[in-house]
Amino acid sequence: MKILVINAGSSSLKYQIYDMTTEAVLAAGRVERIGMDSSILVHEPHHTDEITEVSEILDHTTAIRKVLDKLTDPQVGVVGSISEIEAVGHRVVHGGETFKSSVLVDSEVKSEIRRLFDLAPLHNPACMMGIKAAEANMPNVPQAVVFDTAFHQTMPAKAYMYAIPKVLYKKHKIRRYGFHGTSHDYVSKRAAEVVDRPLEDLKIITCHIGNGGSLTAVKGGVSVDTTMGMTPLEGLMMGTRSGDLDPAIVPFTMMKEDLTVNEVNSMLNKHSGLLAVSGISSDMREITDGMEAGEPNATLAFEMYEYRLRKYIGAYAAAMDGVDVIVFTAGVGENSAIVRKHVCDNLTFLGVEIDQELNKVRSKEPRVISTPNSRVAVLVVPTNEELMIARDTYRLAQEANANQA
Ligand code: ADP
Repeated sequence: MKILVINAGSSSLKYQIYDMTTEAVLAAGRVERIGMDSSILVHEPHHTDEITEVSEILDHTTAIRKVLDKLTDPQVGVVGSISEIEAVGHRVVHGGETFKSSVLVDSEVKSEIRRLFDLAPLHNPACMMGIKAAEANMPNVPQAVVFDTAFHQTMPAKAYMYAIPKVLYKKHKIRRYGFHGTSHDYVSKRAAEVVDRPLEDLKIITCHIGNGGSLTAVKGGVSVDTTMGMTPLEGLMMGTRSGDLDPAIVPFTMMKEDLTVNEVNSMLNKHSGLLAVSGISSDMREITDGMEAGEPNATLAFEMYEYRLRKYIGAYAAAMDGVDVIVFTAGVGENSAIVRKHVCDNLTFLGVEIDQELNKVRSKEPRVISTPNSRVAVLVVPTNEELMIARDTYRLAQEANANQA
């Protein structure tokens, strides 16, 4: 069975096509600058060189049509015809409290995703464009939706409620949802396989740190707490996002600097974090280069980033009454040996001890970087959100087929 995975943004769309008999990626690619001048389609088939095409792609429906043209092309294609694609899986950022797991799309699911636009005004409308565009191009193919928030729906109320008037939860659903759920789910399962212990018995802290970042406390395979909140702004210090701060800073800054709601939102989401503190970049590579060159602002940015990350690891060890495994994943977690070193070298009170040489090894495979003596296993596990989406989509499509038979 071939499954197409789509991750739609407002002006971009990423795709991967899987053969689920082997879980092999047959092709991947992306369309950028949808609706702008000179849209770009990059198609990377597994069997030959990638191609880049520049053309006018006015909307997501045209983008998916062009992707399907490439997937069925005699030279760079990977399927004989569109009919070989048996289901499409979409990444959707916000599933609110409604979606506790992935589902097949029907009109009720689409209405609910629309009702959730309020909670994710930048993301969910783009996801919906992807769904509609796939439906327009492949009207009889089942579509599934996989939510970034779903994995965290197991959190207890003490973790997801904010200490503010309850009417705000009742009226506007203001609570912690958490994000990167597909990644936290994937790497925690993979970590249990690597340490060869039942997931049900493990207390795992998953650190998904890329441009955005979040930590999750995974106890017995379920999320019991996570650092992102109602939106992806809460928690860790990130590339351009502030993470946690005193909420009183928001009205105070708005008053002192005469900022609008949009301006203060933009300041906290796009002009804060590593970028603001370092004054150099939101990219961890440039921060560590700056630190090594003795640049004080880069050093402070790194120290704040590492300190906050480490504090949350301590907090989640307390939340779960212990920790067996710490997992690093995503752009910084998978690639930055120096971030992992600084975090782990300061966690000796938990019995963490990493092997400094293993920590420096670069690999695409999951690996243990702690010593045999370490009380906590420390792992680097490359995330694979697309594979999780493909697996859920495959399962749902098979269940639907079985019900029809
Ligand atoms: P996103 O959160 O957008 O999905 P990624 O998970 O791909 O992003 O993470 C991107 C970030 O990963 C970059 O901004 C950069 O800070 C970091 N990164 C990538 N490679 C390295 C590296 N070799 N060393 C340190 N940081 C890296």
